[in-house]
Amino acid sequence: MTTHVPVIIDGESLSDGQREALDVLSPATGQRVARCEVATPHDVDRAVAVANRLSADLERLGPRRRGEMLARVATALMTNIERIAHDLAAEQGKPLGEARGEVEIAAVMWHEAGEVIRHLTDELLPSDEPDREVRVVRRPHGVLAVITPWNFPATIPTEYLAAGLAAGNAIVWKPSELTPMTAAHLMACIDEAGFPGGSVNLLPGPGATVGTALSGHTEINAVGFTGSPATGHAVAAAAAGKPCLLELGGNNATVVLEDVDVATAAAQLRDACFANAGQICSSTERIIVKRELRDELADALVSVARELRLGASLEEGTTLGPLNNRPTLAKVERHLADAEAGGAKVLTGGRRRDGMPTDLYFEPTVVTGLRPDMVAFQEETFGPVAFLTVCDDDKEAVRLVNEHDLGLIAGVMTADAERGRRLGSQLKAGIVNVGAPATVWQPHTPFGGFSGRRSGVGRIGGRYTIEALSQLQTFVTPRPEYASRS
Ligand code: NAD
Repeated sequence: MTTHVPVIIDGESLSDGQREALDVLSPATGQRVARCEVATPHDVDRAVAVANRLSADLERLGPRRRGEMLARVATALMTNIERIAHDLAAEQGKPLGEARGEVEIAAVMWHEAGEVIRHLTDELLPSDEPDREVRVVRRPHGVLAVITPWNFPATIPTEYLAAGLAAGNAIVWKPSELTPMTAAHLMACIDEAGFPGGSVNLLPGPGATVGTALSGHTEINAVGFTGSPATGHAVAAAAAGKPCLLELGGNNATVVLEDVDVATAAAQLRDACFANAGQICSSTERIIVKRELRDELADALVSVARELRLGASLEEGTTLGPLNNRPTLAKVERHLADAEAGGAKVLTGGRRRDGMPTDLYFEPTVVTGLRPDMVAFQEETFGPVAFLTVCDDDKEAVRLVNEHDLGLIAGVMTADAERGRRLGSQLKAGIVNVGAPATVWQPHTPFGGFSGRRSGVGRIGGRYTIEALSQLQTFVTPRPEYASRS
C-alpha cells in the first residue's frame, strides 16, 4: 500500500493534484511505500504567514495548556506505536524493534517537554534603581523553521517540535524527503492532541528547493536544523543573524584502554558502532585502542559483528537493516576503499551482501589500521563500520581523538574512573562518556558540538532545547509599592 503525504498548512491537508510528488522507496524492499507532495514556494510563504498569525495565540495559551497538549501527543504516539513503527521501519530501513524503541523515546520526549515547561521560572534581578523592578522572562522566538534528517525521523523532529511548541512557538517544518510517512504520523498526533491547526505546518520536499526557501525566509525568526555539516553551514548562512540551533555530524571516537574486560567492551561497542546500521550522529566510528589489546579486541568485535542478522526491517529476527540511501552507501564504500588502499585491513564485512532485495544491505565491518591521513579518520562514514587505530599511551589517545575537526561525543572505556576522567577532560567533544562508548546519550542532557568544531552550535536535550528555542526578555518596570512607601 502506498501512503500519500500531503503538504499541511493551517491544519489543512493540501492535495490539489497540482504539486509535483516524489516516490518514497523502502530501502529494505525497493518498493514504493509513499508518495510525498513537494511544497511550492507559495506554500512556504503561506505556511510562514500562518505561523506568524498564530504565534501570539500559542504564547498566550500558557505553559499549562501547552503542557497538557504535549502530554497528549505522547499518548497518541504510544496508542499508534505499531502503525508508526511499521512505517518508520519501512521507509527508514531500521529493524522494527529499533523503530518501536525510537517511537517510545519520542513519546517520552513529548511528555518531558510538557513537564519541563511548567517548571521553568522567570528571574527577578536586583535593580540598580530601587523604584524599578527587573524581571527576566522567557518568551518564544515566534516562528521557528525546523529542518530534519532521515536517520531518526521520529525523535529528531520531536526534539524541535516538542520543545518549540512547549516554548510557545509556531513552527514550519521540512522533514527529510526520504522519511515523510513518519512526519505525517507526527502531524496526526499533534492534531489529535488539540494543538490549533497551523501550530506546526508540514512542508515536505527536497532540501535544495523547500529547505533553501524556508531557511532563508525573511519572516522566520529562528531555525532548528539537524543534518550534515555542509548543509548546516549553508542553512546558517541563509539565516544569518537569526538564532540557529545546529546539530550536525560527528566522527566520534571511543578510547579503549588496556584494563577493560574485552568481551564486555566488544558487546557495548557492537551497539555503539552498528545500531541503526551506524547511521547515528553519535555512533562510535573510530576505536582508539591500546596496542597490546588491539588483536584481542578486534577478534571480539569480529565475533559480535558476525552475530548480527542482516535483513529486511520488517523481518522477524533482523538486528541490522540496510543503509537508507545510495549516497550513504557510496560514502561508506569510498571510505573503505581509501582505507584499504592505504594499507588498512578489513577483518570482516567490507561489502554489500549479495542476494538481498536491494543493494543497500552492507555487512557489519571491522577494520584495523585506520590512520589520521585516511578519509574515514577525518570524515563521518555513517555506516556499519568499526575502524580501529592503535595508540601507545594516554597522551597519544587524546591526540588521536582530537585530530579531526568534528566534536560531538567521545567515550573512554577503562576500569580506572580517575584515569578515564583525566583523559576524558582533554577531549574536544560535547559529551564525554567515561566507562562507556561514544553513542550513549541520555535525552534530557545537553547534546551538541564542541565550540570551534564543525559539529554544530547550541545544545539540544530536555530543558536545553527549550532554552535554545526561546529568548529572554528583560522587563524593567516601576515598583508602585516602593513609591507608596516614601
Ligand atoms: P542533510 O544535511 O543532507 O539533510 C538534512 C535536512 O536538510 C534534510 O531535510 C534535507 O532535505 C535538508 N536540506 C538539504 N539541503 C538543504 C539546503 N541547502 N537548505 C536547507 N535544507 C537542506 O543530512 P542527512 O543526510 O539527511 O542526515 C545525515 C546527517 O545528519 C549526518 O551528518 C548526521 O551526523 C547528521 N545528524 C546529526 C545529528 C545531531 O544531533 N547532531 C542527529 C542526526 C543526524
